[in-house]
Amino acid sequence: MIFSSLDLSPEIQRALDECGYEQMTAIQEQAIIPARRGKDILANAQTGTGKTAAFALPILQQMSDNPKSVLAGSPRALILTPTRELAEQLTETIKRYAQFMPLTITALFGGVKMSAQQKKIKAGIDIVIATPGRLLEHMDQGNVKLSSVEFVVLDEADRMLDMGFIADVQTLLEKTPKKRQTLLFSATISQPVKALAKKLLNNHQLISVAKQNAIADTVEHVAYPVGEHQKAELFVELLEQHNWFKVLVFTSTKAQADELMAKLKQAKIKAAICHGDKSQGARRRAIADFKADKIQVLVATEVAARGLDIQNLDHVVNFNLPYLPEDYVHRIGRTGRAGNRGQAISFVSREEERTLNNIERLIGERIKRIKVPGYSVGSRDTILNNLSERNRPAKSNRASKTRIDSNKRGAGKKNR
Ligand code: AMP
Repeated sequence: MIFSSLDLSPEIQRALDECGYEQMTAIQEQAIIPARRGKDILANAQTGTGKTAAFALPILQQMSDNPKSVLAGSPRALILTPTRELAEQLTETIKRYAQFMPLTITALFGGVKMSAQQKKIKAGIDIVIATPGRLLEHMDQGNVKLSSVEFVVLDEADRMLDMGFIADVQTLLEKTPKKRQTLLFSATISQPVKALAKKLLNNHQLISVAKQNAIADTVEHVAYPVGEHQKAELFVELLEQHNWFKVLVFTSTKAQADELMAKLKQAKIKAAICHGDKSQGARRRAIADFKADKIQVLVATEVAARGLDIQNLDHVVNFNLPYLPEDYVHRIGRTGRAGNRGQAISFVSREEERTLNNIERLIGERIKRIKVPGYSVGSRDTILNNLSERNRPAKSNRASKTRIDSNKRGAGKKNR
């Protein structure tokens, strides 16, 4: 189905033309028409499916059908998302879709000063894209009121549940009018997500495209069996051998990300890092440099990189496998987008083999193993020997502990 058949306002259609969008994606085909009519929606859609346009276009269209003057501190549309990076990315994308409309679109997220955001709020806000914590802070200070909100989007609702934001989300939504439209997007529709939808949505329509979006048809999955201590070395070798460019690498913990970054520096590979201990400015710079092809590798922890709209990514590397198979799907959602071919590369230690099996079960596909001479998962004894060898005089205790910890599945979750 093509966008021009929707009869959207000329400003929106022009923006879509500028973006080069003609055909709708599956989620857009299903969500835009009912959402434009004001229906509440629970959508099961992963990042990379075109979900931002699926919720933003119907809201923009309704705002255009019923124009109102902009108010200081009182938005018409509220989009809640779990991380600052997602808030920034959504803002950038929605601004593109609304570039020919007289709307003010503002992001409110933590990690930056309140004062600059206050100024913007005072100047008038039509659409706010916020992380729940920072928005509550603004509400507490009396900067923002939600009594004029007509449209609410909960983006990545499953992640907001996981991150413990739901109480904040509910507090915020209680401040919005009962008569509003609510669109809830989630990569997985778990029992808690359904319960949340029941509480917050009104006679909603369920839309699901996650299965049809089968990551498998544009993404090639490969796994390299390798001992934990040899992963960095193998990564550097593969980068050189295959000339991979624009590689996003996930580690489980910030410590592993730092360690890998140090090894890449040693090997003179241009890389940057994006994790929760880095300042907002440093993270933004890392992502901008990566997008602008100034660096070859972006090392990231999952929470920091979740949902980033980094396009044309040929390779996503799991330096460590995520504990939950669903997180594998989220991670590689950044490659193979919009029909491009992508490769999901996983380094799998002996301890991670079971996780790999769980991932294979989830994606319904066996992942090809590639053995590289000189690298092997080894036996447990070899691994332990290697660790003690490597850490004997030169390495600090901290480094060896990091490696051992990395083998305990799930140990790093709270460190991300
Ligand atoms: P999203 O899931 O919203 O993060 O979108 C994923 C990527 O697909 C983004 O890079 C969008 O710019 C792009 N995109 C969204 N909708 C379309 C479309 N209908 N045609 C082509 N690209 C699209």
